[in-house]
Amino acid sequence: MRYGGNTSCVEVRVGGTLLIFDCGTGLRSLGKRLSAEFGDKEAEAHIFVSHFHWDHIQGIPFFKPLYDNPRSRFVFHSSSQHRGLQRVLEDQMVTPYFPVDMNEMAASRKFLNINGRVELDRGLTVESMPLNHPQGCLGFRVESKDGVLVYATDNEPGNPQFDKDVRKLAAGADLLVYDAQYLPEEYLARKQGWGHSHWREGVNIAMESGAKELVLFHHDPDHNDACIDSIVAEARNYYPKVRAAAEGLELRCGSNVSHC
Ligand SMILES: [Zn+2]
Ligand SMILES: [Zn+2]
Repeated sequence: MRYGGNTSCVEVRVGGTLLIFDCGTGLRSLGKRLSAEFGDKEAEAHIFVSHFHWDHIQGIPFFKPLYDNPRSRFVFHSSSQHRGLQRVLEDQMVTPYFPVDMNEMAASRKFLNINGRVELDRGLTVESMPLNHPQGCLGFRVESKDGVLVYATDNEPGNPQFDKDVRKLAAGADLLVYDAQYLPEEYLARKQGWGHSHWREGVNIAMESGAKELVLFHHDPDHNDACIDSIVAEARNYYPKVRAAAEGLELRCGSNVSHC
């Protein structure tokens, strides 16, 4: 009730540039706010999709700015090894899954397959890194002159190469948003191989990579507010700068940039 039940969607503002990480059900309420903010004025957003499991794409059919504003532009960035990125995203709206398809959308849409570091503006880059998740997933590192934000969700610990890579991605970040779906004991007892992590691993990554602040993300839908409160309290025994993501939470990152 307090932390919220929508699935993954994080908005990042860097100066005038709008970035969105993942299109879970949280995208619906973000869309309402963006439509109110931009109306029919020109708008542009870069949308990074970590992978195509439902909880990361399900908000797209309900994202108001895609339908409303012909002067808006959305650039989708991801990596699809199966079908083209555009196909993968459009297919969730074909008959009989949804009554309208992407052709009904007024906004211009571009689909870019990620191939290395993406430079969005001068001095604003997004780097990606494969994570350990069934059917693949990408973590992202946003760097600007003001700070570094890392968004790394849907990642399972235990594979030496991926463990090393996620620490590299998170190195020195001002803010690390990291998958903490399970309790460590839940993970060990029955969730190995499900592609998710727990707060203890989040703390390990933050401490080993030098990330300055940790945001526990992708809460298990069966964990209530009291459970998440106790996770945060316990995690703070190991690392003081940790909090749990919550719907509508806004954070500043680095000297003067992002909120999420
Ligand atoms: Zn997933
Ligand atoms: Zn997920």
